[in-house]
Amino acid sequence: MQYCNKCIMPATRPEQVFTDGICDACHSAVDKHDKIDWDQRSVEFEEILSKYRGDGSRYDCIIPVSGGKDSCYQAITMRDKYGMTPLCVTHTPCDLTEVGLKNLNFLRDQGFDLIQISGNRKSYKELVRIGFFKLGDCCWPEHIGIFTAPVRIAVNYKIPLLIWGENSQFEYGGPAAKKENNFLDRNWLEQFQMSGHRLSDVVHDGVELNSIKTLLYPDDEEVNEVGVTGLFLGYFEKWDSKRNTDMCCSMGWNKNPDGPVEGAYNDFENLDCKWIGGLHDYMKFIKYGYGRATDQLCIEIRAGRMTREEAVIALRNSSEGQVPWKYIPDLMEYLNITKEEFTGNLDRFTNKMIFERDDETGQLIKDEDGNLIRRFFPG
Ligand SMILES: [Zn+2]
Repeated sequence: MQYCNKCIMPATRPEQVFTDGICDACHSAVDKHDKIDWDQRSVEFEEILSKYRGDGSRYDCIIPVSGGKDSCYQAITMRDKYGMTPLCVTHTPCDLTEVGLKNLNFLRDQGFDLIQISGNRKSYKELVRIGFFKLGDCCWPEHIGIFTAPVRIAVNYKIPLLIWGENSQFEYGGPAAKKENNFLDRNWLEQFQMSGHRLSDVVHDGVELNSIKTLLYPDDEEVNEVGVTGLFLGYFEKWDSKRNTDMCCSMGWNKNPDGPVEGAYNDFENLDCKWIGGLHDYMKFIKYGYGRATDQLCIEIRAGRMTREEAVIALRNSSEGQVPWKYIPDLMEYLNITKEEFTGNLDRFTNKMIFERDDETGQLIKDEDGNLIRRFFPG
């Protein structure tokens, strides 16, 4: 398996392009730290905001939030640095954690109004089932709701400006055409968030579109009438998740109380949903051979806070690749499935080429905790 020479990202990452042995996210990082004129971008941003900024008597922008450190940073920055009057909008995840709820309340305690959109649990559960069994992504509807609910509110409340956080294609790698994008629209959503599965396909699985309204992107006509514009704050200022975390923590925001999230290196990402931190990332691991810790350690390398050697050691010591058992009983109960159905589905989505198998039977080899054994590791 090929790994980037600068960071520890394998070539199995979808949409990843390697040039001269270096992944495109590392190439973007050079632009981010050395080439981009951030002062110029900030001037550009101020020009745009001046067209939208109100006098405080009504909301002049929407901040899509999960309660995570990045979205809290966005809300606080837009209000305190740029003088905007944000309305925060969240889409309730599959199963909200205790710390996730605390962090949404943190935002409200900081003086922000929050609209929480929650789809009906009956249909939502069926979408989680489709995500888990058909797409190998238990949080599939969650990825969609995060992006559609704020746009729906923008249309309904007639607030045209949406401020998103980082452009993940720029920070984590993706098609060059989308890296230099400063805006998010329906195309972006469909290309990067839908796992190649259209919402309209769910009718074949017995889910009525009328029962999942919170997840449907508004019609082009509605979007155009309000003039909805979604911008990435990460295009206009140099994005730094660690800075965001430090700022939020200093104000009372909560990290994960149990230390690093299962499968992750750090303790401050993907805290809001019981499954997005552990199982969602584990399902990525069995498909592509890397998980959340790799993503996070690559960011540390690119930011110059860690050498590649240190990251390899940290990855070895992390829980990446271990089955995240903590909240799996909740998922089995939620979907009303047995442990055999659960593990059988994981095996179906496991890329058999990148894990050890029995020579004779071809079966995947697992340790007593059900963990797979990697055939490849960054060296
Ligand atoms: Zn790289």
